[in-house]
Amino acid sequence: MKAEKENRERKEEERGYEEERRRMVEGLRADGIGEEVLEAMMHVKRHLFVPPHLIEQAYGDYPLPIGEGQTISAPHMVAMMCDYLELEKGEKVLEVGAGSGYHAAVIAEIIGKTGHVYSVERIQWLVEFSRKNLKQAGYKHVTVMQGDGTLGLSEYAPYDKISVTCAAPDVPPPLLEQLKTGGKMVIPIGRYMQELYLVKKRNGVEREKKCNVVFVPLIGRYGFREH
Ligand code: SAM
Repeated sequence: MKAEKENRERKEEERGYEEERRRMVEGLRADGIGEEVLEAMMHVKRHLFVPPHLIEQAYGDYPLPIGEGQTISAPHMVAMMCDYLELEKGEKVLEVGAGSGYHAAVIAEIIGKTGHVYSVERIQWLVEFSRKNLKQAGYKHVTVMQGDGTLGLSEYAPYDKISVTCAAPDVPPPLLEQLKTGGKMVIPIGRYMQELYLVKKRNGVEREKKCNVVFVPLIGRYGFREH
């Protein structure tokens, strides 16, 4: 009886979150986000990626603290960055800054099980937090590693796409080296006044400024120094 009641309550709770997720996705659709990204964001349960005391705010379109002074990015920012990358099924993607694991899960949802996301996170506690969240949400084709993401992850390079989820002083040279020719990278650049760039690697390198953003700093060898 008790187990049945708990099961029923859990299902009702999940339905409630699904309704909130639908509202979040409708808001993103109104902002002009593409169908594939919207579909992925309808699937990823953001409430499994936020700290338990913030679960009721999981579907608000704003960043939330996840501990260690870091944040899970706002849904519209995750959506825009995925849209700019034009992710495709089967791609190999590098993420710098796993944080909660949510953004990696959205990428993983879009590229499907034939693709793979490698995410590098600097803070060990967040490596464990993101791994736990990704496992609970069922994403097996995401690998989170501890390290300095400004150096990329040469063992799995080259990457079709790279998503940097913290603000850099400039594009770290190892990331450009590890991006395939024909590949794309999104990266916020700047310390206080930050802008999101779409970087395309062809014969040369093209950079397109997209919009003003606010991200936590990228800290590392080719990033900012820790205070
Ligand atoms: N993508 C995350 C999510 O979905 O929750 C949000 C990322 S948060 C805005 C930025 C993350 O970048 C933080 O977790 C921070 O610890 C990490 N970070 C900062 N510098 C880094 C570096 N050099 N290498 C890897 N991660 C870094």
